[in-house]
Amino acid sequence: MAQIIDGKSIAATERELLVARIEKLKAAGVIPGLCVILVGEDPASLTYVSSKEKMAHALNMKGVIHRLPAETSQQELIKQIELLNADDSIHGILVQLPLPPHIDADAVAEAIMPEKDIDGLHPLNAGRLLAGRPCMIPCTPNGCMELIRSTGVSISGKTAVIIGRSNIVGKPIALLLMHEHATVTICHSRTKELAKIASQADILVCAIGRPGMIKKEMIKPGAVVIDVGINRVNGKLCGDVEFNEAKEIAGYITPVPGGVGPMTIMMLMRNTVEAAEKQNMNK
Ligand code: NDP
Repeated sequence: MAQIIDGKSIAATERELLVARIEKLKAAGVIPGLCVILVGEDPASLTYVSSKEKMAHALNMKGVIHRLPAETSQQELIKQIELLNADDSIHGILVQLPLPPHIDADAVAEAIMPEKDIDGLHPLNAGRLLAGRPCMIPCTPNGCMELIRSTGVSISGKTAVIIGRSNIVGKPIALLLMHEHATVTICHSRTKELAKIASQADILVCAIGRPGMIKKEMIKPGAVVIDVGINRVNGKLCGDVEFNEAKEIAGYITPVPGGVGPMTIMMLMRNTVEAAEKQNMNK
């Protein structure tokens, strides 16, 4: 029977560390500031954005949401970002995805100054991550690494399989695991023999967005299973992994909810605090 990786409690420990760093910044006259920009009215995005704001406030940070109408032009959005780039009270900027189809998400990511790019999507941060250099690491991948480390299982030399190759989740996780010396395979919708590949993984990360797609027979006995997926089935949240059967065979597994989600938001706060520390040092 797998040990459940308790994302809430690991996030709570990280929170304590952040509180101390925020206090230190405050003593130096700096309040870490986070601004989330939401374009449009997507209900899931609205929930995510307001939980980020709430968490910032709970940590005594500045947390602001800029809500823009769905018809906002790319140019107007970029103008808003440029104002925030120049605003000393904002240390981290995040544009909630997905954006309406008329806006090019890559152009938006490039508009955020790399020092304030707490989602790690600017090409400078993405390139530094590729090269294994210090950079802003995307929040969900960063959280997944903390969850894997929390098991005490050594990553070096292990076989890791990542299912999903998005720029924000799958690819950065693969890079982070490779930098920690795992042997990494990335799978996606065109992968042949997915079950066979997945079942060889000592560390299996599922970032697909397909409820319950990963079954027991796709999991190696004793594996660390990180379920990034957030799916809603009949109003209930569930992951990409068939949790009840997977926990019978995995060594460690994250639940949904209560696994990757709480860590993602805490990593966003950590990136903002880190950004504030660096920007204060460079003053
Ligand atoms: P994307 O839709 O951008 O990527 C999904 C990936 O899954 C793609 O690479 C796709 O392959 C692959 N895929 C889809 N279907 C299959 C299949 N049948 N077999 C194998 N691979 C498949 O999603 P994201 O990376 O943004 O997010 C993934 C999931 O994680 C979503 O459920 C999302 O809600 C969740 N999420 C959770 C977060 C959290 O905090 N817990 C944060 C961010 C995301 P291809 O590239 O070939 O299309």
